[in-house]
This record gives sequence, C-alpha cells and structure tokens, in this order.
Amino acid sequence: MILEKAKIELLRQIFEESQRIVIVSHTNPDGDAMGSSLALAEVLQQQGHTVHCIVPNRFPYYMKWVPKSNEIIVHNADKLGIAEAVIADADCIVCADMSSLSRLEQLGDSIKKNTKARRVLIDHHLSPSEEFDVMFSFPESSSTAFVVYSLIVEMFGIEAIDQTVATQLYVGIMTDTGNFAFSYLTPELFRAVAALSETGIDIPQIYNNVYNSFTEGRAKLFGFVINRKMKSLIKGTVAYMSLTEEEMRRFWFQQGDSEGFVNYPLTIKKMRMSAMFTEQSDFIRVSLRSRGNVDVNEFARRYFDGGGHRNAAGGKSFKSMEETIKHYISAVEEFHAEGKV
Ligand code: 5GP
Ligand code: MN
Repeated sequence: MILEKAKIELLRQIFEESQRIVIVSHTNPDGDAMGSSLALAEVLQQQGHTVHCIVPNRFPYYMKWVPKSNEIIVHNADKLGIAEAVIADADCIVCADMSSLSRLEQLGDSIKKNTKARRVLIDHHLSPSEEFDVMFSFPESSSTAFVVYSLIVEMFGIEAIDQTVATQLYVGIMTDTGNFAFSYLTPELFRAVAALSETGIDIPQIYNNVYNSFTEGRAKLFGFVINRKMKSLIKGTVAYMSLTEEEMRRFWFQQGDSEGFVNYPLTIKKMRMSAMFTEQSDFIRVSLRSRGNVDVNEFARRYFDGGGHRNAAGGKSFKSMEETIKHYISAVEEFHAEGKV
C-alpha cells in the first residue's frame, strides 16, 4: 500500500490540530467497520485525543466481545443525544469503511451540519465522493482495517499496536476477507497479519468469537432460507433469496442473524451471482455477491441505488418484496443480455 507522504503529513497536521475526534462508520456495521474504527480510536486516544466512535445502528450481538465495542455510540439508540453533541463539538470527523456520507442515513445529515470539523476518509470502497479534506481510499485493499494498520504504522510506528488494537484490526481483516478467502490477499497483508500475531492475539479465539457464536434461531433460519427461499435464474448461475419480517420473527431473529447468508449460493460450483433481500421496517435491504468478473458494484449502482465492491455490494429497494424480486429478475436478464453475468 503506497501512502503518499504529502497526504500523511496533511493527516498528521489535521490530527495535531484536532483535540476532539469523531470516527463514524456505515449502517449495519460489520467487523471491518467496527475493527477499523475502534483501532484508530484506541491509537488516537493513546496520543492524547478525545475520541468517540459512532455508528448509525446496532452492530450484531456476536460482535459484542470486540474490545471497547461497548464504547461505540449507536446513533439511532442514543436517547441522550450524545452522538449529536460530540459531532457538533468535533474538530475532525473520520469516516471509516464507507465511501460517502449517504451510507450514514440521518447521521450523515448531522455531520453535514458541522462545518468546522475537517473530514477524513479512510476506506476501501470504489468511487469515494468528494466530501472530504483528505482521502485514503484504497479499493485494492482487502479491508479498511488493513488501511488503518498501514496508517498507524506509518504515523505512529508499530509500537502503537498493542494487543487490543491488534485484535480490533484482525477482526476487520478476518471478516472482510472471509477468513482469508476473498480478493486482495497480498503478501503485504500477510506481513501485517504476522505483525498483529506478534502481539500475542489469540487468532482461533477471535475466529470462534465471530463465526461460532450464533444462536440456535440463526442456524434454523439459515436452513429455512437455503431450503425454502433460495431460487435460481439463468440456468442455475444466478441466485436470490428473500426474508420477510414475519419469517424473521418465526426464527427469533436478532440483528445480524442473516449476515453471510448471501455468500452461501456461491458455494455452488456454477453460481456466478447471489442476492439476498431482507425486509426492514421502511425498505428492503439488498445484498449482492459475485464471483470473478461479474460486477455487482455496477449492478447495485444501476438497479438498486447502491454500490460497494466488484464482488460484494448492496443497495436498497423501496418497493414491496414481490416488486423488488420482479425488478431483480428483469435486471438480471438485462445484465445477462449484455454478457455481464
Ligand atoms: P452487505 O451485503 O454486507 O450489506 O454489503 C456488502 C458491500 O456493499 C459492503 O461493502 C457495503 O459497504 C456495500 N453496500 C451495502 N449496502 C449499500 C448501500 O446501500 N449503498 C452503497 N453505496 N453500498 C452498500
Ligand atoms: Mn470493509
């Protein structure tokens, strides 16, 4: 990862001039959102800054063990208005693991109200928007946690990474690479992981905490979705699944229980693309995954007002489930006719 000297100096200056720093990350925070935000917060706190991490909504219950995750302010559950107050007071706002303030829903509007804070982007999504004073955008990085690792080492030295920070960063890298199975697994990334492991972090334990800590309801919901709801198109090369609120209730759904389901159809050899539609209170969340050259970032942008990465993207639909699925099927047919899937 090549970090431009001039940008590092600018970031250093922004941090030096900022006593109060706020770090925000995207809606439906995942391991990378949490790990990259918390690690950066920890190091900046060591440097004497006052730092708050904010996310728009709750993170999954199986991420609660992540060190310092209890200090994250959840904007939509923040009855005391702490998030609004710290944002209004911030000298610097860092957006981690997201490429545009639109990924923050109402939290994005609160940030736009603060015109004095400098805005920093640290991310690995495609097409960052132009809302930032300095951007560290690396779409070829496996995770934002790896970008944060590189920035910390460059600015504060490897000594700044203690076991807490290493655990937080490892969670981000592990989850966004699907436990070292997805793209951008560079030698440089493994060197970073080696350095994290030097701190004595317990890698099997971290794996177990994240991937073997679900409820019985989730296991049963998973079986239900794969067995009853998975459908395929284009000769079994494109899949989709859906989950309504009623179905979620039937399996004692807790936030985060359907994370990862969308990946499963891609365990089928000829599958090229997979979609998952999850009913939320006021829209349908769309999750997309693909293999190889099939570009779901383009698909999400074109058909679901979203974005992400080439092989993992998402968006939203404000239609009914039935209409959303119809829209998806015709979008897939169009994409197929263009030779894109
Ligand atoms: P997930 O399916 O895990 O929610 O998201 C997969 C990827 O797509 C993530 O990198 C995420 O940031 C991106 N993504 C998910 N939903 C949206 C969305 O509504 N808008 C945009 N721009 N990206 C999204
Ligand atoms: Mn990420």
